[in-house]
Order: sequence, then C-alpha cells, then structure tokens
Amino acid sequence: MNETREFQEIAHCGGQVIFTVSRDENGRRRYQITWQSSRPVPAAIYAIYALSQGIPVADLPMGGVGAPWPEPPVPGCVPVFIASDSEGKFGFQCPRCDQYWRTKGGASICPYCGVKAGRHEFLSAAQRVYVQLYCEKLDEALSADDDGAHVINMDAVADAAGKNVEKPPFYYAEQSQQKQFDCSACGEFNDILGRFAYCSVCGTRNDLSEFEESTIPAIRDNLNRGAIPSNCLKDIGSAFDAFVRQYAGQLIRNRPMRSARRARIGKMRFHDLAATRRELLGGFDIDICEGLTELEIATVTRSFQRRHVYEHNGGEVDEKYLRDSGDTSVRLKQTIREAQAGVHEFASLVLRMARNLHRGFHDIYEPTKAAIDRYAEKKRLEALQRQHPVPLLNTAGPRLRGE
Ligand SMILES: [Zn+2]
Ligand SMILES: [Zn+2]
Repeated sequence: MNETREFQEIAHCGGQVIFTVSRDENGRRRYQITWQSSRPVPAAIYAIYALSQGIPVADLPMGGVGAPWPEPPVPGCVPVFIASDSEGKFGFQCPRCDQYWRTKGGASICPYCGVKAGRHEFLSAAQRVYVQLYCEKLDEALSADDDGAHVINMDAVADAAGKNVEKPPFYYAEQSQQKQFDCSACGEFNDILGRFAYCSVCGTRNDLSEFEESTIPAIRDNLNRGAIPSNCLKDIGSAFDAFVRQYAGQLIRNRPMRSARRARIGKMRFHDLAATRRELLGGFDIDICEGLTELEIATVTRSFQRRHVYEHNGGEVDEKYLRDSGDTSVRLKQTIREAQAGVHEFASLVLRMARNLHRGFHDIYEPTKAAIDRYAEKKRLEALQRQHPVPLLNTAGPRLRGE
C-alpha cells in the first residue's frame, strides 16, 4: 500500500449530532438524538451507551431499520453517536498497551497485544473527551428552560483538520498508520502500526497471509530471476525466524508459564529446528512439523544448518556444521553452494511449518467465528448479486430516542 500515507491526520467525516428536546403529554422532558451528514466523504457511525458523566459503559449495536435499541446496562445511560473519519474508518486505542489503530468499526481485540474487550473500551483518548463533551452538551440541552434543537457541529471539526487554526470544541481526528490490510479470514479493514498483527475484528493473525502471499513469493521471485541461491536460503531462514517470533511473542505474553520458560523463549532464535519444535510442542502442544515426513524434517534441518554456515562463516564448512549435520559429503573449510531447486524446496517446507504454527496458535486463541461467518455469507451474496444484479435501496439515517 501507499507508504507516503503513514501517520497523516485524517479528518473527521463531519455531520451534525442534533438533540431535539421536547415534553410528553405529562410534561416530562424527553429527547431524540439524530445524526445527519451531507458531506461528500465516506461516513459511518456506531453508537455506545455512556453514563451521563461521559463514561462509556457498553456498546449499543444498531440493528436493522425499525429494530428496537437494546436496553442500557444501567438506567440513565445516554446513547452516544461516534462518527468515522472521512475515509469511513474509526480510530481505536488499547487500554492495555495504549497502542492506536484504525478499522471499520467492529473492533473486539487489540491487534498488538491481543487483549479482548468491548468496542466501547477501545475508544481513543480523543474520542473519550468527545464523549464527555457530548454528554455535557446533552445535559445542558435537557437543563435549558426551552425545548428545541441543540446541535453539535462536527462539520466545523472536519473543516479544522490539517489547518493551523484554533480547533473547535469537540475536535478530534484520526491518523493513518503503516500497514493497511483486509483480513484474509473476515475481510475487515485494519490499519496498524508496523506490519504484523491480529485482525482487530476477528482476531486472526495476518502473519501467515503476509508470509505465504508476500514474503516467500518475493524470495522465490528473486531466486528465479537469478539471485544467489545461498542468499535466498538465508532470507527464508530469517523470514521464518521473524514469523515464529511473532507467535512466540504472543504466547509468552498471554499464556501463563514459568518465568524461566518465558525468558528462554523470549531470547530464542528459531533456526534450530529441533529446539524450536521441542519448545512449541512441550509448552503449547503445537507441532510445527506436523505432516512432514522424517526425510522432510531432515531436509529442512539441514537447510537451517547450512544457513548458519552462510550467515556466520562466509559459506565455509566449520566444525559445528560437520558435527550437527553429519554431512559426510564435504570437508572442513570447503565452500558449500546451494542449488535453486533445493532452496525452493526449503521455502515449501518452511511454508508448511508456518501453516502448522498458525493453525496451532489459533486453536489456542480462537478467532471470532461470527465475523468470519458474516464474511463467508457476504461473499456468497455478492456472488449471487453478480448473477442477478438489483438496485440498492436508500435507507433513512439512524435516529435514537431517550426519555
Ligand atoms: Zn493492546
Ligand atoms: Zn479478521
């Protein structure tokens, strides 16, 4: 994706939140909250319940047209509309690790540390201030002597973004991050710091799709275009080490274990296949060599040992290689070389081990099935729609009522 868009302020989508205060036949104050927007930018909203002091307490899922709103978790809660940025995305911030990201709205897990929480618990610091001001404004509207409409003008907020002007009250904006991806499991958009993460909607890690669709194919491409095979072998070894490190990092962060194991895995390099397999199998019941034959395991082990020779000895056989590999076809100090086909085979074997690790990891940390099922259903309907095109219906904007 476009690297130049890193860390840019993205304006709010604008629009207006309107509190319409009136009285019922018994003279009791009541209000209706409407959100409207007419700006030509992508815009989306979701709603949460907040205590009237401005503290978010629950998500408020907005069902289909005419569906009743769920009851607030405690009486006196106020429904609050949170509108997207001008790309139709929402910013979120983790209460555990404090890191920020953007997605289209259904966040349920922190992409960085993996903590699970309700969407309202992932509001960014700036959004929390907005919620507080929103509740104050509603309180003012309800305390005013006269009935009528009270408007929070988010258009002014959108207009002030990126400009060196005094920011209006309610001001906040989102910020683009470094890696934008659509989750391979649930299709949802994520924009994260760095490259590797959980999908913040369904919880599937993106490492495997990066590895099998980007990292390994790029190395294979280089190899086919004449790159030195031993360099490609080193690249595959490094990529695999980085891949395992991500999963191991999450396991030692989130699984209870003795501190000695945590420290050991934290320091590990994952080039020693036997040690890596032992650690993952013993600690987490994940066999990265599942489905590999003894011969394949020996082949991949040998490739990692040769990687060591290229990395640390300039390609000259050392005592360690002779001892560990049992390779009798070469002598001490002899220069070894790789064949293209052998490096391709190493890539294939490493991919299978990566898939085993990903599958085993998600057997422990199960992704949210609902989001993945929704995506499967959406893809099914889209395929149907392509066969039988129908015009889309216009629907009215959302509206919330409170007493
Ligand atoms: Zn986190
Ligand atoms: Zn996902």
